[in-house]
Parts: sequence; C-alpha cells; structure tokens
Amino acid sequence: MTWSTVQDILTSRRNGERSREHDHYLKGTVFCVECGRRLIVQHTRTKAGRVYEYFVCHRSRDTVCPQRKALPIAQVEQRVADLYRTIELNPAQRERIEQIVLVKLHRQQAVNDERLTQIAVEAQTIDANQAKLLEAYYAGAIPRELFLTHQRRLNAEQANLVREKAKMESNNADIRQRLCDALDLLQDAHATYTDAPVTVRKQLNRAIFAGIFLGPDPTQIRAELNEPFASITQPG
Ligand SMILES: [Zn+2]
Repeated sequence: MTWSTVQDILTSRRNGERSREHDHYLKGTVFCVECGRRLIVQHTRTKAGRVYEYFVCHRSRDTVCPQRKALPIAQVEQRVADLYRTIELNPAQRERIEQIVLVKLHRQQAVNDERLTQIAVEAQTIDANQAKLLEAYYAGAIPRELFLTHQRRLNAEQANLVREKAKMESNNADIRQRLCDALDLLQDAHATYTDAPVTVRKQLNRAIFAGIFLGPDPTQIRAELNEPFASITQPG
C-alpha cells in the first residue's frame, strides 16, 4: 500500500485533533499498565550532558501509582512496533476474515432490505392518503383546519420515512467502507508501520488502538483496539 493510500484512509478518521511538533508520536497511545494514566515523556540529562528520554506514568501528586520505573523511549517504540506483528493479517487471513465479515454484513443487509421494502410500502400508503385527503378537501368534504392537521401529520410521517431510509442506506455503505479500510490497514500492518514516518505511525496507532498499556516488564503489555479492529482481530 502506498503512503497516500494509508494517509487517505487515516485522514478520514482524524477528528480535528491538533498535533504539536514536539509531541512524541506515541503520546496519547501509551498508558500506564498499573493505573491507566497516560505515559508522558521525561528527559533526564546526565552530568556529561547526555539526554535520556523515558516514558513515565503521569501520576498526579495526590495519588500514588505503584509503577514508578521509567521506560526507555526506544524500548517502548520497539514494543509497540512488535505489537503490530500480533494484529497484522497476511493476504490469506485478510481474505478469510473479509469473507466471514461480509457474510455477516450480508445477513444484516437482508434485514435492512426487508425494512427498506416496508418503508417503500409505507411511503406509498402515505402518498395515497395525501391524495385522498386533497380530494376530500377540494370536494368540500372536510373543513380546512382538519385538512391542515392531517396534512401536517402525513408530511411528518413522510419525512420520518425519508430520514430512516437515508440512514439505513448510508449505514450500509459506511460499515462496508470502514471494514475495508480496517482490513487494508491490518494487511501487512507490521511492515507498513515500521516503514512509515512518525506522523503516519501516530495516525495508525490512533486509528487502531484505544490504548496500549505498558509496564517495565516485557510481559506487561495490553492493547485495547478500536472497532472494527477489535472484532476483526478477534473474530468470535
Ligand atoms: Zn501509573
């Protein structure tokens, strides 16, 4: 996949978040495994002038988090990159999951289609009632007030149907698009991620992970995925 494709997919999900240049690209993605607070960057300068960068738990003064070790930044970066190996899909896996999810979508689609057919019938009924109402009004069979009341009710019902129909139609297209985007991002995700510039890495992390929870021990890592990534990587 080219960068521009990755970027295209990602830009659509960014929700107006500003990014400052000095922010580390993992900020907002990595959290403390013990207390769930953000990990923040801390610089330590040695007497010789060397600067070491760490992630530390952003514990506030009045609460104590048992996790007090500083995590070297390079190590955290590596562990996050390694995480991508566990969520990536090769083309065969992608194909298989796409099939499974598409079958589910088709089932949902069938339910939606049934409702859309129903909506069409209801819309026709409203049309017919409107015609009858007009006819009755012009024939002098009903007073103006009553005519207007009925007309307002029918118009409101019609507007509701139009709204519901539009929502169902855009839902279908939306879900399909989101799914394909997610699968695109997960296919060969590790290579995509490690080859990507940090701005793209940041966006990938934000798109895929709700949070990555880390402690100093290599086994202390827990990832929470956003939807639809969670369902795709753990198909139930
Ligand atoms: Zn903590």
